[in-house]
Amino acid sequence: MINVTKTYLPDREKYQSYVNMLYKSGWLTNRGVLVQDLEARLSSYLGVKNIICVANGSLALQLAYKALGLENEVITTPFSFAATTSTLSWERLKPVFADINKDDFNIDPDNIRDLVNEKTTGIVPVHVFGNPCDIRSIQSIAEEYDLKVVYDAAHAFGTQYKGESVLNYGDISTVSFHSTKLFHTIEGGAVITNNDDLADKIRLLINFGITGPVTIESVGTNAKMNEFEAAMGLCVLDEIDFIVEQRRTLWERYFDELYKVVSFQKWNALSVNNYSYAPVLFKSEAQLNRVEVKLKQSNIISRRYFYPSLDTLEYLDSKQVCGISRSISCRILCLPLYPGLTENEQKSIINIIKNAL
Ligand SMILES: *Cc1c(COP(=O)(O)O)cnc(C)c1O
Repeated sequence: MINVTKTYLPDREKYQSYVNMLYKSGWLTNRGVLVQDLEARLSSYLGVKNIICVANGSLALQLAYKALGLENEVITTPFSFAATTSTLSWERLKPVFADINKDDFNIDPDNIRDLVNEKTTGIVPVHVFGNPCDIRSIQSIAEEYDLKVVYDAAHAFGTQYKGESVLNYGDISTVSFHSTKLFHTIEGGAVITNNDDLADKIRLLINFGITGPVTIESVGTNAKMNEFEAAMGLCVLDEIDFIVEQRRTLWERYFDELYKVVSFQKWNALSVNNYSYAPVLFKSEAQLNRVEVKLKQSNIISRRYFYPSLDTLEYLDSKQVCGISRSISCRILCLPLYPGLTENEQKSIINIIKNAL
């Protein structure tokens, strides 16, 4: 079976040597040496000032909302993974959906502007499939109305924007290090910010608000990354160039072979693709269904990322109807993309798609 993704497992002996170290030290969590090492190495690899590793990408988002004091309404995109919206609801914030652009699939700044009102406190855009949003327009809306911006950058590990990491934008950016993501720590995530005070606040929040053996300064939660996860991250980071290169080769082959029969996401002109996903857009949902079934018959699993459009979730009872997001959601399919997918396997995927169309 060929799945849409496959967790990257790094050099086993290297991971084993970290595990041996942990057995010797007995220090398995609570900001151990490996988490500290991973944060330092990520900060330098990505070129970001403060990076706080946490237990997962969903908690990274929740911590960002908390640290920035978001209240009431938050404007976000309906074209994303469920967590972008569910973390808002979990924190008792009301997600208000701005529609997306039909070419780059990112939140439409004009639509954000239409939805801002006296209850709005923040904007949570997603760099969907790693493609940077219209950062300049979002920033100017935020400044005009005094709103906080949290970029859900779960897909944007390693994405460059104007020659630096896209994670440097917004009051906070968050990433996910889940096993299915480009870079992973089994489960994990991180909060990134240029603001040192915010970084300190988040470090406090992830450890119960405890500042010393007998001092509890504030409310907090448990969102710590453990040492086994950090060890996995250190091993995967050693191989990250190989991972991205493999993905790039595969992505480019999909593009070269398929650009005449399906549409591809329009990438931000100030940025380079990080090849985290291979989404293709069909003319109709019927076309998509035909391809999905044909692939399945050959034991190839594609995934309908992102479907359904989150403005259709019944538990939210949203007032907004995001027509473009609904239309894209119904017609988009992510194709298998991971290091280790062979050229022959990929060619058979491509042939099945071409034949089905
Ligand atoms: C994966 C993902 C998350 C959640 O990250 P987890 O580490 O799985 O909690 C949030 N937002 C987006 C867009 C994602 O793809």
